[in-house]
Amino acid sequence: MRKHIRCGKLFTGLSDKAEKDQTIVLKDERIEYVGPTADAPKAAAGDQTVDHSKHFVLPGLIDVHVHLAYGNAKTEEDIDIYAPVEYRALRGLEGAQRALKAGFTSICDPATSGLVSPSIRDAIEANMFVGPRISASGPQITNRQGLTDWYPTWIGVPSTAIGVLCKNAEEGIAEIRKEVKDGVDFIKIAMDGDAMNPSTTTVMAGYNQEEITAMTREAHRLGKKVVVHARGDEATLYSARAGVDVILHASFMTERTLEEVIKAGSMLCPSYLLVVNDIDFTRPGDGAYPGFPDAHKRELEAGSKIHNKAYKAGVKYLLGTDSGFAITPYGEWHAKELEIYVKHLGFSPADALKVATANNASFTRYGSQVGALEKGRLADVLVIDGDPLADITVLQDRSKIREIILNGDTVTLEINPKSHRLRSEFSYQMWNEIYDQKRIAELKRPGARAAAE
Ligand SMILES: [Zn+2]
Repeated sequence: MRKHIRCGKLFTGLSDKAEKDQTIVLKDERIEYVGPTADAPKAAAGDQTVDHSKHFVLPGLIDVHVHLAYGNAKTEEDIDIYAPVEYRALRGLEGAQRALKAGFTSICDPATSGLVSPSIRDAIEANMFVGPRISASGPQITNRQGLTDWYPTWIGVPSTAIGVLCKNAEEGIAEIRKEVKDGVDFIKIAMDGDAMNPSTTTVMAGYNQEEITAMTREAHRLGKKVVVHARGDEATLYSARAGVDVILHASFMTERTLEEVIKAGSMLCPSYLLVVNDIDFTRPGDGAYPGFPDAHKRELEAGSKIHNKAYKAGVKYLLGTDSGFAITPYGEWHAKELEIYVKHLGFSPADALKVATANNASFTRYGSQVGALEKGRLADVLVIDGDPLADITVLQDRSKIREIILNGDTVTLEINPKSHRLRSEFSYQMWNEIYDQKRIAELKRPGARAAAE
């Protein structure tokens, strides 16, 4: 069956402009025609016609950095320990559905527990459930100075964690071979840690040059792309020299390292939603306050400058959000990353949209089958009431979404409003401070409580 859609404005993802008086025609799951309404094939008997002549039509959005196993985690322990892996798969499916309801028809997951995200991917592909198209890694490969090895050494990295401790290239290569056998779409390596250290520019790389080069070569030999987490300059430099495909964050890279990134052709994906939401939303009383937002202010300041330079130098960008934390819950803020690209990184709205559609598509397992409105591609379409080229924030307003089309079908899925989280999914912080006699005396002084709050 064909579906003829009259578009008020049409942004294909392949040019900077939105065109007026356009029509797209879908046949089953594919796009059959995109162009002026005057030249469009006429609707035949039995064809469906949809009037979006007052609306803005664009490709379904893509977020390449969503962690489906994290469950809107409040702590590192929540990410790795509390919910059983089997429960995380079911919970992650709902998280993916929430992203779809926000207009994101494809997502990529770099770092999961076990095979949680590849399994969600497969259940959706098998049409058991409605959800976005997913491309997924397995657990990230990490070392002592990287993510995930954040528990004391005597605890180690639990088997349910979103990473696997690989202490050298040999162990990393063995893990890569196992993950490729298990059907991952790409390999994720944590090249360094987080931004909590005040001297973040000196954050250590977890692997040396020879190790990341050897692991990247093996992943490429097995036909898989490599995505690294690298906030610091050292990790970014080694990753670029190793020829990795995507560098997440790269906030503290120097201009010398940027030159290596350009030479290698690696793509950059700053993923600043977590950084900006942490600055915007974290409050006194949150355990993260004020250390984490302060660290993220430093990161945003450094990152904005160098990413603006990289953007102007023509580096290819992807767009992702690090959704899956309590500060970046599923389905809520994905489109804010486009605003961040415009506001903090200096992108034009059209370029931010192209990154979130056509560029991102090139990284997914579907490649140029998705990400643009063009004859022959799969029909993933977003229709909104508003013009994101004039105001990029309109994409964040879910009440403005008029239609989401995935694989040619209108998404009618509803998230159960009674859906909620279980106490047992989260680590239980019982008290925020130690109530010794001195502290109680302080709290009892007149006006003390008010001053503390
Ligand atoms: Zn991440």
